[in-house]
Amino acid sequence: MDKFDYMERHGYEQLIYFYDKTTGLKGITCIHDTTLGPALGGTRLWNYANEEEATLDVLRLARGMTYKAAAAGLNLGGGKTVLIGDANQVKSEAYFRALGRYVQSLNGRYITAEDVNTSTKDMDYVSMETDYVVGLEGKSGNPSPLTALGAFHGIRASLQFAFGDNDISKYTFAVQGAGQTGYYLINYLLEAKAKKVYFSEINPKHIERMKKEHPEVEFVTPDKIFGMEVDVLSPCALGAVLNDDTIPQIKAKIIAGTANNVLADEDKHGNMIKDRGILYAPDFVINAGGVINVYHELHNYNREKAVRDVEKIYDRLLEIFAIAQKEGIHQQQAAKVFARNRISTINKLHANYIKR
Ligand code: NAD
Repeated sequence: MDKFDYMERHGYEQLIYFYDKTTGLKGITCIHDTTLGPALGGTRLWNYANEEEATLDVLRLARGMTYKAAAAGLNLGGGKTVLIGDANQVKSEAYFRALGRYVQSLNGRYITAEDVNTSTKDMDYVSMETDYVVGLEGKSGNPSPLTALGAFHGIRASLQFAFGDNDISKYTFAVQGAGQTGYYLINYLLEAKAKKVYFSEINPKHIERMKKEHPEVEFVTPDKIFGMEVDVLSPCALGAVLNDDTIPQIKAKIIAGTANNVLADEDKHGNMIKDRGILYAPDFVINAGGVINVYHELHNYNREKAVRDVEKIYDRLLEIFAIAQKEGIHQQQAAKVFARNRISTINKLHANYIKR
C-alpha cells in the first residue's frame, strides 16, 4: 500500500506510528481532518494479523469519524488510534499510561476515548498522562442510552418524512439486537407506546432480560428479522447486515437503527435500498448520540445540554433526506454531501481574520 498516495486521495493530515519498549505498546494514530476542530476518536485494541491490516483499519475509522462529527454539528475533526495486541495479555497501568504520553505529545490535535477492547478504567490510566481523553468514569457516563435516544429521534424523523406523521404509537418495529443500544431503544419505543415491537438476539441473557422485563416484545429468530411485516427495521447489532441477501427480504418502509457500517457496500447497497423505495437513515448520523454526549465533556459536561444536542438528530436527518430527494442520490451519499458541505462552509468562514 502506498500510504502517501492513499492519504492524498482521501485528504488525510497525519499518520503516526508509536512504540514503547517497556510495555510493548504498539500503536498507530491517524488524524484525518481537523478543519472543524481537534480530531476525536476512540482507541481500539485488536490483535491485527499485521501492520498493513491495522493501518488500513485506522485510516478507514478516522475518516468515518470526520463525517460523523461534521454531520453531528460538532466542532471536531476525525481521528482514531489502533493498538496492535491481544487484549487478554497486553493491558496494564503502564501500557495505557504510555499511550497517554503519546496522545499528550500531539498537544490537543487528537483526543482519545474508549472503543473496542478498551474501557473507561483503561482511559483513567490514559488520563494520568494526558489532558486529551474523554469518556472517563464519573463524567459523561455510558454512551449507549444517548446513542439509543438519538436513534429514537432519528426514527421519528424517518416516520415524519416517509408517512407525514411521527407518532410512534401508530407503527410497528423489528429491532435486531437487544444489547447496550437495542435494549434502550426498545425501552424508548415502548415508552412512546409503539403499536408492536419484535426483536431478535443471539445472546440468551439478553433474550431472557427482554422476556422478563417486557413480555409484550415478541422474540423472533435471527433469520426472520429482515423479512418482518413491520414499518421500521432497526439494525442494532452488527455491521454489513444490509447486503445482497437481506435487502430483497425487507418489507419495512424504513431502516433506522444504532449499528455502524450496516451497508456491506455503501454505494451498491445504498442504491439497492433507494431503488426499493425504502427510506434509510444513514448510520453515522442516526447513531451519533454517543459521540455528541462525550463531546460535551470538553465543555463542562451538562446532561441536559447533551440531550438537547442529541435531539437535533431529528432535524439533521430531515435535511439529509431532503438533499437525497432533491439530488436523486441514496441517503448515505446525501449524508456525506451534508457533512462535506458543513466542513467546507465553516472552513471558508475561517478565512476572514477576526481578533479574539
Ligand atoms: P452490544 O454488543 O451491546 O449489542 C449488540 C447485540 O446484538 C448483542 O446483544 C448481540 O448478542 C446481538 N447480536 C449479535 N449478532 C446478532 C444477530 N445476528 N442477530 C441478532 N442479534 C445479534 O453492542 P451495542 O453497543 O448495542 O452496539 C450495537 C451497534 O451499534 C454496533 O454496531 C455499534 O458499533 C453501534 N454503536 C454503538 C454505540 C454505543 O453507544 N454503544 C454508538 C454508536 C454505534
